[in-house]
Formats: sequence, C-alpha cells, structure tokens
Amino acid sequence: MLIGPGGVGKGTLARRLVEADDELWLSRSWTTREQRPGERGDEYHFVDRARFEDAINEGRFLEWAEFHGNLYGTPMPDGPAHADVLLEIEVQGAEQVRARRPDAVVFLILPPSMERLEARLRLRGDDDEHVADRLSSAPAELEKGHQLASHVIVNDDLERASAQILSILEELRQLRRNPSSKD
Ligand code: 5GP
Repeated sequence: MLIGPGGVGKGTLARRLVEADDELWLSRSWTTREQRPGERGDEYHFVDRARFEDAINEGRFLEWAEFHGNLYGTPMPDGPAHADVLLEIEVQGAEQVRARRPDAVVFLILPPSMERLEARLRLRGDDDEHVADRLSSAPAELEKGHQLASHVIVNDDLERASAQILSILEELRQLRRNPSSKD
C-alpha cells in the first residue's frame, strides 16, 4: 500500500511502479468524488453514492472509507494470481487492509515540505476550500500513517522515490522466496 496526504504524489508514484515492475498489479478504486478537470477517466471507477452503497452491501470491497465527504473503496482484487497487489489509499482504508492482511506492506509517502504539498494540491486544480480541507487533515493522516508504515519514503524526486520502493519490494520478495535468508 502507498499511503500519505493528498497531493504527495502517490498516484504518479503508483503508475511509475507498475510500469517498472511486471509483478505489481495496481488496483483501481471506486469513488463517489467528481472527476477533476483534466483528470483521466481511468484513474477511478466513478460512481454515484447509491451505486457505491449497493457495492458495500454486496460485500464487494476489500476496504472502503469516507474521506472529505466522498466514499473511496478498493474492490476485491482480481489481478493475475502471481501478482503483488498495489493499493494507493488513505489511512482508514490502510488500517482495514492491515487488519485483514497483517503481512501487507505499507509505504508512507511524505512530501519534501508542507509548502511543496500545498503547491501540488493547487496545481492539480483543487479550489481553495478543497486545498485548505486537505491541508488541515494532513497532520492527522501523517500521525496515523507513521503508526501504520513499514517504510517511510520522501517523495522529493519521482525516480529516486520509486527506485527506493522497488528495491525494498525486491528484498521482500527475496525473503518470501527464501525465508531463511533473513538469518
Ligand atoms: P483523491 O480525491 O485526491 O483522488 O483521493 C483522496 C484520498 O483517497 C487519497 O489519499 C487517496 O489515496 C485515497 N484513496 C484513493 N482510492 C482509495 C480507496 O480505494 N480506498 C481508500 N480508503 N482510499 C482511497
């Protein structure tokens, strides 16, 4: 899982990771949020609240959470059997996944500074109110994020941050293939 405050670059990082690593499969979330101007239509499965609530009742989500007035959820993963599933989600959802899958690995992605975070939120076209809302929840997300994180990555440079994650994944796979190599 990639977690961290909105605007930290998790989405770009997630796309970079699946491009670079054939064994990673990126889950596509459902959301009731409106599509942002300029946002690609395949970033999410955009649905209305009634449809989302039906899917909750049908037990279709691995996890779901309400974030700033919108629902977000991970459908039960249906990627290739051999693949490692990559989720890009907020902290309440990450806690639920951890409870179901204690072996899940959590990368907390940090901005280089709060100023850079704010600048990125503005760049992606959120209005002032949304930017202020998201910045106000960042400290709590970071605190919970630190509790959950297996690894903390500063996203100051996309290539550097993704290389760091890929190398950790490689080590973890090595351990999974050969658990005794830990000793
Ligand atoms: P945004 O509206 O900026 O795309 O996403 C808001 C937050 O929801 C981000 O922190 C993003 O990682 C998170 N998010 C995206 N998909 C999911 C999901 O399926 N489940 C949960 N719990 N959070 C998600």
